[in-house]
Amino acid sequence: MPELPEVEVTRRSIASRLQGARVLSVRCGKPLRWPLGIAPQALIGARLGEVQRRGKYLWLPLQRDPNGPQAGLDGGLLLHLGMSGSLALHEQAGEPGPHAHFDLVSNAGTLRLTDPRRFGAVLWSPGLQAEPAATLLSRLGAEPFDPSLTPLTLHAALRRRKVAIKTLLLGGQVVVGAGNIYACEALYRAGIDPRTRCDRLGRRHCERLLVALRSTLARAMDLGGSTLRDFSDAHGVAGAFQAEAGVYGREGQPCAACGTAVRRVLQAQRSTFFCPTCQRRS
Ligand SMILES: [Zn+2]
Repeated sequence: MPELPEVEVTRRSIASRLQGARVLSVRCGKPLRWPLGIAPQALIGARLGEVQRRGKYLWLPLQRDPNGPQAGLDGGLLLHLGMSGSLALHEQAGEPGPHAHFDLVSNAGTLRLTDPRRFGAVLWSPGLQAEPAATLLSRLGAEPFDPSLTPLTLHAALRRRKVAIKTLLLGGQVVVGAGNIYACEALYRAGIDPRTRCDRLGRRHCERLLVALRSTLARAMDLGGSTLRDFSDAHGVAGAFQAEAGVYGREGQPCAACGTAVRRVLQAQRSTFFCPTCQRRS
């Protein structure tokens, strides 16, 4: 499943090329998770703004042609890669394959969504604060690199929650971006047992966790930017990142720091990997 680092690397790979481009045509393939919410031909002539990311959503702002028939109607496309989606900007896109379900053809190239399982979405919204974008984005926790997320604000968000810290990270309601592999690795780097209840974590734990989460995600983004052009490979950035993981997928193998065998437990139906020596429960 594409995680936040893949989505951010995708954004970086397309944003500067798409900014200012003009939409020439739109092609919708098989239905995605939700309908587009606007007639595709209504987007023709619109100009693309700067592609933004919120959680695992991408936002493609579109400004309509001021001389066109629907002048002044601004908005954008909210895009999600779902379980198996990937997005690439092609100079010459060629014929769409059986899994290419959305093309945004512009004078800067064709932005093509390929999504075999079709849990992805491309959705028109009049703005990020308007529906349907507002409701979808309101469920998201803080951005991991947002400077307003500090050890203090993280501590304040965790102190009344009794759920295990790993489960909370995975849910994304306090901070987004920690999919299973990144949640496991961040907790390993922070030296925190993934089963620790959130309300048992002190301010210093929160400081270590935030540093670890940011360094884990930053490393994944570096790998994505340096090793992968697009993410048509379903394992994507997470696959490259896993090759150097400390605990994820390493059950029974020795921890690189202390030699103790890495353990695997189930938390909320997901595998959690951790080192029982390096990661302490509070
Ligand atoms: Zn260890």
